[in-house]
Amino acid sequence: MAEVIGYCPLCTAPVEAGHGAVCISCYEKLPPDAELAQSADQARSAITQAPLKNRYADAYRVGRTIDSFGTAIKFAGFTIAGLILVVSLSNMRPASPLGPFGPQPALLNAAVLGGVIVAVLVAAVGFVLGVLVSAQGQILLATLDSAVNNSHFLTLSEKAAILGVPSTAGVPAAT
Ligand SMILES: [Zn+2]
Repeated sequence: MAEVIGYCPLCTAPVEAGHGAVCISCYEKLPPDAELAQSADQARSAITQAPLKNRYADAYRVGRTIDSFGTAIKFAGFTIAGLILVVSLSNMRPASPLGPFGPQPALLNAAVLGGVIVAVLVAAVGFVLGVLVSAQGQILLATLDSAVNNSHFLTLSEKAAILGVPSTAGVPAAT
């Protein structure tokens, strides 16, 4: 009986030295020896956790996309408001001496005033919408953080990897 050098990462069966190209149990192609699982437990946990990690990675991507979409809405609102402001201020005429109630100050020009009001409204609406959309993304991210943290299917270092914090975080320092 040949020495067991690792475990099949697809079905956890032991792989012996001098093995063929495929696993004797599941007939799938075996990876290079260095990439074989070191124990049946390690192979089992890799099999069960790969879908879980992909699922969380996908959900985090959605959360970050929604968050940056909100930021883009805020940015677009301010940009459009700025353009409206520039266009309406460029319409500003010098003070007219011919108003119905005597000389009119330049800023009372109705088109300019209307443009400024519209610009402020566009900026305000863009900001509020952007904050609301960003909040959806951030709520999703916070929910995911909580779900990952409370998962019984992940080890502490796997949770740390998914949350993107150093794996030593949350571990009491050895004294
Ligand atoms: Zn196998």
